[in-house]
Formats: sequence, C-alpha cells, structure tokens
Amino acid sequence: MSQTTSERIQSTSSPVIETDVDVIVIGAGLAGLTAARRLVQFGHTVRLFEADDRVGGRALSAEAGGVHIDLGGTFVGRTQDRIMALADEVGVRRYATYDSGDNVIRWRQSLRRYSGTVPPMGAALLDVGRIQLQINRIAETIPLGRPWEAPRAAELDSLSLGSWLERNRASHTARDLIALACRTTWGCEPSELSMLHAAHYIHQAGGLASMLDTAGGAQEEHFVEGTHAVALRVAAELGDLVTLSTPVRKIDWSGPGAIVTTDKGQTRARQVIVAVPPALRRRIEFTPLLPPRYEQLSQRWAQGVLSKAYAIYEEPFWRRNGLSGQGLSDRGPAFITFDASPEDASRGVLLGFIGGIFGQEWDHLDEPERRARALASFADLFGPAALRPIAYIDQRWGSEIWTGGGPTAAPGPGTVLPYARYLTEPIGPIRWAGTETSDRWSGFLDGAVRSGERSARDAHATLALTAH
Ligand SMILES: Cc1cc2nc3c(=O)[nH]c(=O)nc-3n(C[C@H](O)[C@H](O)[C@H](O)COP(=O)(O)OP(=O)(O)OC[C@H]3O[C@@H](n4cnc5c(N)ncnc54)[C@H](O)[C@@H]3O)c2cc1C
Repeated sequence: MSQTTSERIQSTSSPVIETDVDVIVIGAGLAGLTAARRLVQFGHTVRLFEADDRVGGRALSAEAGGVHIDLGGTFVGRTQDRIMALADEVGVRRYATYDSGDNVIRWRQSLRRYSGTVPPMGAALLDVGRIQLQINRIAETIPLGRPWEAPRAAELDSLSLGSWLERNRASHTARDLIALACRTTWGCEPSELSMLHAAHYIHQAGGLASMLDTAGGAQEEHFVEGTHAVALRVAAELGDLVTLSTPVRKIDWSGPGAIVTTDKGQTRARQVIVAVPPALRRRIEFTPLLPPRYEQLSQRWAQGVLSKAYAIYEEPFWRRNGLSGQGLSDRGPAFITFDASPEDASRGVLLGFIGGIFGQEWDHLDEPERRARALASFADLFGPAALRPIAYIDQRWGSEIWTGGGPTAAPGPGTVLPYARYLTEPIGPIRWAGTETSDRWSGFLDGAVRSGERSARDAHATLALTAH
C-alpha cells in the first residue's frame, strides 16, 4: 500500500511543513503570475515562490530621464491577444510604436534611408525575398507545439539556421540580414540555432513578417507604464500569496502531491507548476530524479544572449529629420534600434538591441564603456546629437542569475527532436510553464501568459478529477 502524503512527511527529517495548498507555482514572471492568478480565480489555494527580490522576471522596467524604460520585454502586436487581455484586465494601457518617416541602415560602410521593413539592397533583394518565402513555407509545415512531428523534423533539426542558409545558397546579404533577425529574436548566431526550432518559432509567430514588423507585427505597440507594470499589478492582486527572495531548492514528488523546499521551509501541494526558463530547471533538485530527457533538455536549451541599451534625450531629434528612429547596422554593438519615446514625446528615447556576437563581448564591458559604445552606435545611425543624452541605462540579461540570458532559449541543432516534448510533458504532480513552453508566440510576453493560462487550466482539471 502506498504511503499517504502526511505519513511521508512525518517520516522525513526535514523542517516542519508550513502550509498545505492545492498548487505551488515557482517563478513570478508573467507565466507564473498568470498561472497563480487563474488558479485563484478557479477557487484554489495557491503559493507562488519567486527567487528574486522582485516579480516580473524578463518583464522589468525602470525609470531614467523621467520616463519608463523596459529593460526586458517591451513590444506587443495585434495577434498577441493574451498579453493584451491581461494588460487590459489590470488596467495597463498601450500606445503605438513610433513608425513614421524613414528607417536607416548602416551597411557595408554606407548609411542609407529607406521605408518599410525590408531595406534597399538592389538586386540582392530578390534573393532576400526568395529566402524569406522558403523559410515561411517550411515554418508552415511544423505542427504548433509539436515540432517533432514535422514531416522533415530530423533533417531540419540536424541543421542550424546558418547551415540551412548555406545549403540553400543564400546570398551574403540574405545571410547577414537573417543574422540580424536571429540576434534579436533568439540572442544567438544562425550557426547556433536549430533550423527546426527557428521554423517552429516563426510558425508560432504567424510568419516572418508578423514576427519582425512594426506596423501589423510584433513591435506594433508598447505599454505606457512599461511592461513591468503588468506584472506588478497581477502581483498586487495576489498579495501575500507571492513570496519574494525565496528560490525553490527542491521538489520531492516521491509520494502523492509534492513537497517543495525553500530556504525558509517546506510547503506541500497537490500540484506544482514550474514557470522558469528551461535552463533554470536544473537549479532545482528533483526527488526522485527526473528522467534523463528532462535533464538533457535543461542542459541543452540554454538561454540566448540579448541585452538592451537606452539613451534618453530632451526630444526625439531624429523625428525632425523625418526619421522613424528604426535603424539596422552591420557594425554593432547596437545593431537594431527603435524609437521608444513616451506617447507625448516629452522626451526622445532610442532603444538599441545588443545580441549574439555583439552581446557576448558587450556584456563583459564596464558601464562607461558600454555607454560609450552604445551611444557611438546611435550616433552612427542618427548623427552626433545622439552622443548627448540626458540619461543612459542598459541591462545585461546574462548577469541576471535567475534568468541566465535572453530573450528566450536558443536550442542548437539536434536538441529539438529529442527534447522539445519535455518542455510541457507533465510528470507526476509537476507541470511546466514559461514562455518557452507555449505553442503560440513562444519566447514572447504573450507566450508567457498563454503558458500560465494553459498550466493553470491543466492543474485545475487534474485537481477536479482528484477532488475528494
Ligand atoms: C532583452 C529582452 C527583450 C525582450 N523583448 C521582448 C519584446 O519586445 N516583446 C516580447 O513579447 N517579449 C520580449 N522578450 C521576452 C519576454 O520578456 C519573455 O518571453 C517573458 O517575459 C518570459 O516570461 P516567463 O514568465 O516565461 O519567464 P521569466 O520572466 O524568466 O520568469 C521566470 C521567473 O522564475 C524565477 N525563478 C527562476 N528560478 C527560480 C527558482 N528556483 N525558484 C523560484 N523562482 C525562480 C525568475 O527569477 C523569474 O522571475 C524580451 C526579453 C528580453 C530579455
């Protein structure tokens, strides 16, 4: 006869069990916060443990030069309806990303203006279009949330995005442009990313244009008070159900339910939702050990390298020159820029992304050097006025120990086919959430919210089945 949970607890030498709840959620990013909120709405008892001294995870904002700055996730687009619904429910308003005027590109030593998403590349543009079309076609063949079932899954997973581009004789220009997109989207180089993952991710986002565009795409809007405000409002609703500065160290799932250990004690729950990035699952000790493929997943689905730099100016001076603030550069370190000025343009804000090879070096520099290099990138695109901000701020996600990088996991070749299913496959009382586990907009704020909703629904259904 199997032991009951209470018998098992009495037989351990661990500290006294503090509480007994229906569900413990681990990680107060948007995924964990959403899961906890939904479970409370379903009428369950919940505890949410967060390792850091704040909520929000990769949704983090700060104030600089008198304006809200998003140091992590910023943009949302029209098909990202779950993050938008959540923001609406907690009263955080959005506004359109500034998108008027010409974009600029610094490419092969020259600086040019252009309009639309695709820069002017002369004859090379035809090849860029061909490659985009081919990638979109492949993306459509990947079943959402089940990439291992794709018709050419093994072949695609054996290739990196970079080797796929080579095999398909992409021109240098097409390769370099895809590399820019890869650095911003996954924080890695095309040679480091599984082609199966890239295609699946693009399908989840509704195609390359939907993923990369400003108007009509994923960069269409951002939040007036910053993304962090959404997390803070949800946390305020949850009140003392959220415990900060409390990393979960261990999950014992050897009996019915689970016992979760933190430095502050133990809590017992009937279900556990782990809402941390895949690579961070390894920081938790599981008893009994998880089957090897779960362990391999968390070893091999490492986070990308993407950071952000912001310069705040008295006004968005580039607008006077008919520029949108959107720029591309093959020089770096800031290789993609946006105008992130407040809605009333009371200040001018330039946002630069620094990722992939540029991010690897930049993350090791001290603040004065990072500032100098980021401003030099802005000046390279928008002129010397960019060297005179009233404030500067940046964020290195690689130095956030409870995130380990950004914007999302960047799995290499050979790691999707064998391991992707263990992103979501529940084991015993343990369920998995976090943006990487979503079957739509994985890697984005929207994917985080969707995964929180899905895991809460599943835990609720299981609890209903096992209700006494
Ligand atoms: C630079 C950057 C730019 C981005 N830009 C965009 C964008 O413009 N638009 C967009 O949609 N998305 C963007 N993203 C991605 C977006 O921010 C993330 O997809 C989303 O915030 C992830 O939420 P999450 O809840 O899944 O994970 P996280 O936010 O990582 O939350 C996980 C939480 O778990 C906690 N944790 C980890 N281990 C433990 C433990 N053992 N015990 C307890 N707690 C633990 C962490 O501290 C963290 O709070 C960006 C991300 C970055 C870094």
